Amino acid sequence: MFQVYACIAHEHDLRLVLVAGVICFLAALTSFAAFGQARQDSPRRPFWLGLAGLVAGVGIWSTHFVAMLAYRPSLPMGYDVPITLLSVVVAIVLCACGWWAALSRGRAAPPLAGAIIGAGIATMHYIGMAAVIVSGRIFWDSGLATASVAIGIGFAAAATALQARRPQAGSWLPALLLTVGICGMHFTAMAAASVLPDPRIEVPPSAIDQGTLATIVTAAALLLLAIGFGLVLFERSLARSQLEEAQQRAALAEEVLRGAAERETLHHSLQQHAAISSAALDNMAQGLSMYDAEDRLIIHNRRYVEIYDMPEELREPGTPISIILQHIFGSNQLPTDEAGNRVALREVELANGRTIEIQIQQLPGGGWVATHEDVTEKRAASRHIAYLAAHDVLTGLPNRATFGERLKQEAAQAKRGRGFALLTIDLDRFKEVNDTLGHPIGDEILKAVSKRLTDLVRDEDLVTRLGGDEFAILQSGIGVAADAAALANRAIEALAEPFEFEGHTVAIGASVGISLAPGDGLDADELLKMSDLALYRAKSDSRGTFRFFEEGMDSRLRERRTIENDLRAAIREGQFVVHYQPLLDLKQGRIGCFEALVRWNHPERGLVQPNDFISIAEESGLIIPIGEWVLRQACRDAATWPGDVGVAVNLSAAQFKRGDLVAMTTSALSAAGLAPARLELEITESVLLHDEAWVRTVLEKLTALGIRIAMDDFGTGYSSLSYLRSFPFAKIKIDSSFVADLVGTTDSLAIVQATIQLSRKLGMTTTAEGVETEEQLRILTEEGCAEVQGYHVSRPIPADGVAGLLELYGCSETPLRKAG
Ligand code: C2E
Ligand code: MG
Ligand code: MG
Repeated sequence: MFQVYACIAHEHDLRLVLVAGVICFLAALTSFAAFGQARQDSPRRPFWLGLAGLVAGVGIWSTHFVAMLAYRPSLPMGYDVPITLLSVVVAIVLCACGWWAALSRGRAAPPLAGAIIGAGIATMHYIGMAAVIVSGRIFWDSGLATASVAIGIGFAAAATALQARRPQAGSWLPALLLTVGICGMHFTAMAAASVLPDPRIEVPPSAIDQGTLATIVTAAALLLLAIGFGLVLFERSLARSQLEEAQQRAALAEEVLRGAAERETLHHSLQQHAAISSAALDNMAQGLSMYDAEDRLIIHNRRYVEIYDMPEELREPGTPISIILQHIFGSNQLPTDEAGNRVALREVELANGRTIEIQIQQLPGGGWVATHEDVTEKRAASRHIAYLAAHDVLTGLPNRATFGERLKQEAAQAKRGRGFALLTIDLDRFKEVNDTLGHPIGDEILKAVSKRLTDLVRDEDLVTRLGGDEFAILQSGIGVAADAAALANRAIEALAEPFEFEGHTVAIGASVGISLAPGDGLDADELLKMSDLALYRAKSDSRGTFRFFEEGMDSRLRERRTIENDLRAAIREGQFVVHYQPLLDLKQGRIGCFEALVRWNHPERGLVQPNDFISIAEESGLIIPIGEWVLRQACRDAATWPGDVGVAVNLSAAQFKRGDLVAMTTSALSAAGLAPARLELEITESVLLHDEAWVRTVLEKLTALGIRIAMDDFGTGYSSLSYLRSFPFAKIKIDSSFVADLVGTTDSLAIVQATIQLSRKLGMTTTAEGVETEEQLRILTEEGCAEVQGYHVSRPIPADGVAGLLELYGCSETPLRKAG
């Protein structure tokens, strides 16, 4: 070591040693760099390997050469040029081989490669030393020589191994190691050599002096290194820029690919979207057409084509709206409002009768969309619904609701002096006809009545059916009450005309009530109520007439309500009593029978007569319990009378409607212990009008029991004579109105005569009601009337008076004496 140090310190020019070291380091660095290129750039690998070898070889040689120039033995020195050149070539080849070996795989490759390079270094050195011509003999210290070789190989191997282990760390440290190896090898080898001067050996004079040579070699070596390094750097930057370019290109490609993929998905979803939209469009229930800002068609759907039967050429995108409008409406203008704006919603009637609702919606871009809906059925349905809501289904007349509306309007106008009349019309015998002939005929009658009433009135009047058999007329714009009276009369006349249906001739009549506006008031509901009250009065006074509303009608109605309530209480509390009026048998001169006539012993009003409550009892149905009570009471009373004296009980129609009349009657008879033959039941025509067949069955059952049936109030009804044949009457009671007119008028006498003769022929008894005078009695006796009843014989008397009356008549030879 000392020898080496001493060799460097004493035998070398230290400045050149430093230069040699720098050259060596730069060469090592460049060689590593070139090797690095060789590893990366496989197509040009031989070039880079060659360069690495060249740089290493030349670098080592330059180092050696400059270091040799720094060597200052005291002897003159020269070089053998061919051997020197050989040493360079050997160095280059071995280094190249070393670098080539470094490319092999395996862990041993890098140190082995370094070893080859190290061997190259040593070989170069010793061949180089062989080229040295010095005037002396060189002796070698074999130990140092071996050490020099080992140093060169060891450091070189370490350098390549380090470089291979940490390629990322850069080449500085491996290059330094290699430099240390080269220099260490060189100076150790120099230390191993010692020159023994021998003047016999001649050194040829060199052409160039040592300093210049050193400069030239150094410059050449540096130039070569610079070129090599430059090449590597250039290649690296080229590679970097290529890499960057490649990366950019890759990024671009990626972007393009991604873009393409996105476009693909977008396109796909757009396609899907379009397919969905188009399917949705075509399956819309509404027609749709869309136009651009210049009013040219953009798209449309199938329904649009169907609605307007749009020809092919008008469906083309770009078709101007004017041509389309021409096809649809025969006009080329879009309808606008007063302000000149397009009408957003409208309904059009097409030539084919369809109604289309068109709705226009402006689009943000200036275009617009029109939807087209065929609303023909919808409109027809709503019209029908509106019609149903406003009309009476059966008759087609405006219904109560419509009438109410109109009435309110008229009432409002009446405030300004335009008077009107409200006529309510009730059919007189409709109920009976409906029950007898059935509902289909009843419905036909109601329709016919509607027609007759509608024909009577002017266009501005309104006829309605308020319900059931009740109608009303709103007679508008009338001046005087007489106008309303005239219309009422015309209505009554029109409805009195018989109706003909399926071979039935049906005669009904009508009663009319009238209220006047503004005379009676202006409230629609009030006017209707007043008209109704007037109607009620008309019906109860005499059917087939009209009445105007008058003050007080209201209170009469209220009174009826009170009576109805009182009647319920009367039934609970047993406030009824039966009075009896005798029927005098003219042939035998004795009382054959008493008619039971009910009275109401009212706690406040006193004794109330049947005419004041029977009709109310009949309407409210209360007649059923009352009638039953009277029958049972009459049977009980009659059971106390002599066995040849009968009792007559009046029946109402309502009692027939209840199915248990026969059972109730037998029960009353047996409860009282009265023989059926002693009971007479009086019915009026109104009973017969109901269900003829049913009534006949009931009457036949009663007759079969031995009960006699009498027809009451004969002659006042409607078709009395025809009933005489079809029902099993035992007695006919001629109505008191004929008896009252008997004296002086021939008509009544004729009717009485005919009735007596007819009933005699049919095997019936005749009773004359309401006989009040001797004269009446005389005529009736002359005509052969069998029985009389009336005040002339006796007023109706309480039950406890019957015995006295019987005694008075029953035993007397002159029976025709007026009872007290
Ligand atoms: P009606 O069955 O025809 O009874 C005869 C009516 O004529 C009785 O009136 C009687 O008082 C009255 N009368 C009898 N003789 C004369 C006379 O000479 N001159 C006059 N002006 N009238 C006479 P009343 O009792 O007021 O009964 C009226 C009607 O009430 C009866 O007429 C009958 O239809 C009905 N009625 C009475 N009681 C009952 C009853 O218990 N049930 C039913 N359903 N109706 C009854
Ligand atoms: Mg009677
Ligand atoms: Mg009578």
